[in-house]
Amino acid sequence: MRKRTRRNSKRRERHLLHQKKGSRKVSHDIRDQVLTRDGHQCQHCGTPGSSRNRLTMHHKIYRRHGGPATVDNLITLCESCHHDYHQKMG
Ligand SMILES: [Zn+2]
Repeated sequence: MRKRTRRNSKRRERHLLHQKKGSRKVSHDIRDQVLTRDGHQCQHCGTPGSSRNRLTMHHKIYRRHGGPATVDNLITLCESCHHDYHQKMG
């Protein structure tokens, strides 16, 4: 396992895989709606995000479990909490 702390390289690679199939990618539209609903804050620690700790979309039902990229299935987490979450929860 490579450990790169820099900017979600793992996530990116997974995204690319999904992009080829043309599904499950979080569209800008959806992202906007989720951010608006969540007040542009991490729903775990409340940070508004920054260039070093950006806000990301977390899938409540994981993509690999078939979770859709819909507003209902997404929640705003900062990169730091998102990372922690997946460290703990897999
Ligand atoms: Zn956070």
